[in-house]
Amino acid sequence: MNILVINCGSSSLKYQLINSVSEEVLAKGLCERIGIDGMLTYQPEGGEKEKSEIPMPTHTEAIDAVIKALMNEKTGVIKSLSEVGAVGHRVVHGGEKFTSSCIINEESIKAIEECNDLAPLHNPANLIGIRACQHLMPGVPMVAVFDTAFHQTMPEVAYLYGLPYEYYEKYKVRRYGFHGTSHSYVSKRTAEIVGKPYDQMKIIVCHLGNGASISAVNCGKSVDTSMGLTPLEGLVMGTRSGDLDPAILEFVASKENLTLEEITNILNKKSGMLGISGVSSDGRDLEDARDAGNRRAKLALDIFDYRVIKYIGAYAAVMNGVDAIAFTAGIGENNKELRKAVCDNLTYLGVKIDDEKNNVRGEERIISTDDSKVKVLLVPTNEELAIARETLALVK
Ligand code: AMP
Repeated sequence: MNILVINCGSSSLKYQLINSVSEEVLAKGLCERIGIDGMLTYQPEGGEKEKSEIPMPTHTEAIDAVIKALMNEKTGVIKSLSEVGAVGHRVVHGGEKFTSSCIINEESIKAIEECNDLAPLHNPANLIGIRACQHLMPGVPMVAVFDTAFHQTMPEVAYLYGLPYEYYEKYKVRRYGFHGTSHSYVSKRTAEIVGKPYDQMKIIVCHLGNGASISAVNCGKSVDTSMGLTPLEGLVMGTRSGDLDPAILEFVASKENLTLEEITNILNKKSGMLGISGVSSDGRDLEDARDAGNRRAKLALDIFDYRVIKYIGAYAAVMNGVDAIAFTAGIGENNKELRKAVCDNLTYLGVKIDDEKNNVRGEERIISTDDSKVKVLLVPTNEELAIARETLALVK
């Protein structure tokens, strides 16, 4: 069966068509500038990337353009829509309602809508994508795969904040965590590569991309993760601040004469490595600037590493040990200096990195020495494949 995986944002949409038997990506691409003008990028397996300007006033036209590209006589990979057996949608927030993926129907759509105020920028966009697919592909089964679901196994001690309990009761203010599909996929692959049962391992997954989070996966269950009610908490990220003293909000707001909304926007979009360096949010730009002698770019990268080291220490403590540490996502997969700097601070845990094995980008492998007490791995994440697998499991 072919599964169309859709990751819908407010003005963009990423897609992949995956063969569920061979797990090959038949075609992939993205729609950008939805609601503005419209640009489709389409790449069939083994073929060239094509870009075309197509009017996309709404997500419906964007998905229609994707379907037409997939069926295009010359470069298409399917002949008719009947070759799409199911659609898997990434949905950012499933609140406490969704502890796993679900079949999309009117009832589950209503439940997703009820989570909208927990992710006001993301969930409405995800729902628009779902509605557009329902309209264009009536009768094709669809599944929602949530970023938060994998972390719903966290115990109360990990997910409750030190706030008046009534905020949890009234508004469900708690830690949810994100990147769940990636943490789930990478932790499972880690156990497979190490060759130990997943339900007997203590694994720390470092998903280090532009958005970054770490999770503690104990015996196959997420028991803690660094992102919180929203993706703002935890590590220092490309543009997000991560953890800080909450009193800073009022302090800076009064000094700079800003509203809470403006401050939150700064914490999400102008902070993190961008804010510290004043150069860029992108790891590659920061490395170039650091190598050219920019002190604040170096500082931003050092602070990023430092926070990763702190969280790994915390999660090893939470699980009373760790068997494996996995690095994934853009920075985790490509930046060997980061992996080395982090691992060199974990010798107290028995971590020994092998510099030769670590000299790699985006390739699945163990990068610790044979005698390292804790295995360290590079595991490229594959959220689309994870979504396709979840979708297949529910529609089969
Ligand atoms: P992601 O959010 O997973 O796409 O990761 C984006 C981050 O990964 C950015 O900070 C990039 O600079 C970094 N990144 C992606 N590719 C590379 C690369 N080849 N070398 C170094 N950093 C990279």
